[in-house]
Amino acid sequence: MIQFLNLKEINQQYNQELKDACSRVIDSGWYIMGKELEAFEQEFAGYCGSKHCIGVANGLDALILTLRAWKELGRLHDGDEVIVPSNTYIASILAISENNLTPVLVDPDIHTFNLTVEGIEQAITDKTKVILPVHLYGQISPMKEIMTLAKQHDLLVLEDCAQSHGAIIDGKKAGSWGNAGAFSFYPGKNLGALGDAGAITTDDDELSEIISALRNYGSQEKYRNKYKGMNSRLDEIQAAMLRVKLQYLNSETMARQAIAKQYLDGIDNPLIELPKVTTIEGHVWHLFVLKTTKRAQLAAYFADNGIQSLIHYPIPPHKQEAYLGSLDGSFPISEKIHERVLSIPISSILTDDEIKKVIHLANEFEL
Ligand SMILES: *Cc1c(COP(=O)(O)O)cnc(C)c1O
Repeated sequence: MIQFLNLKEINQQYNQELKDACSRVIDSGWYIMGKELEAFEQEFAGYCGSKHCIGVANGLDALILTLRAWKELGRLHDGDEVIVPSNTYIASILAISENNLTPVLVDPDIHTFNLTVEGIEQAITDKTKVILPVHLYGQISPMKEIMTLAKQHDLLVLEDCAQSHGAIIDGKKAGSWGNAGAFSFYPGKNLGALGDAGAITTDDDELSEIISALRNYGSQEKYRNKYKGMNSRLDEIQAAMLRVKLQYLNSETMARQAIAKQYLDGIDNPLIELPKVTTIEGHVWHLFVLKTTKRAQLAAYFADNGIQSLIHYPIPPHKQEAYLGSLDGSFPISEKIHERVLSIPISSILTDDEIKKVIHLANEFEL
């Protein structure tokens, strides 16, 4: 069986280094908000090309706390509109509604799965305050054009980078384009901790300071609470795990990109539509997502032949029970995407034989 994602095998590659890092934290006697977090924040800010990085408990909190901080700073108010792709993972939308802001869903480009400048422009109203592009499946959105549009309309930009660690467009990495970038280090993400973790990147000193307080009870000075904050800290053990794995992120990304290239060059079947790549270094292949109108058959066929495939995602946000009656509108592209997508394995540890088997089977698929 070719597993979709074998986390044990992925982390086994760094077994000794992870254990050493873990021992270092245990022996330090300091487990929350210490040297490991500080070092990881510096290293990840450097990696992304951002001035600041603030570690938090998970990717959802990274999104929530950024919007929350903009409210504290008076840049956002209840009811302001946030433009977000209609096909995103639910977390992007939850962060908006959690802050009493209004999600404005916009259909993406059906080939790249990302927002287009034209789509965003059409959705801008007097109440629009934020654009929240999601670099879905690992492909960065057209950030240069989005930032130009944001400037013209005086909008904030929050990048959802949970799937796009290290994706580059026009020489700049995901998370360094917008006013802020929100990252998840959930174990299955391209940079994954051994538990939950997340971070925000930004060049904005004021925003960085306020998020640092908000993640820690709204406190910059012990027992003095400037804001009604929350507890959303990235602990020392996870920071230490991430410091190990950050060193290998570029080689992991290159391995994913090489597999994607083999799939793109090798899969040729009229029943299967391959994902569209805008630039080579702009896609870090968190997922390799096919489209087919015969999804149930293709998934069953892969399973019968020992390949695990998954659907990202089966139900679009506007059809989720949690949002029934509140996310109005028709999103035909998103609905088409959710009916047709199927993700095949693309983790860095796939062997050449496994990659060839996936390609061979995809090409042999018929009705
Ligand atoms: C994973 C993910 C998140 C949330 O990250 P968690 O760490 O699981 O909270 C947010 N947005 C997108 C697009 C994601 O894929």
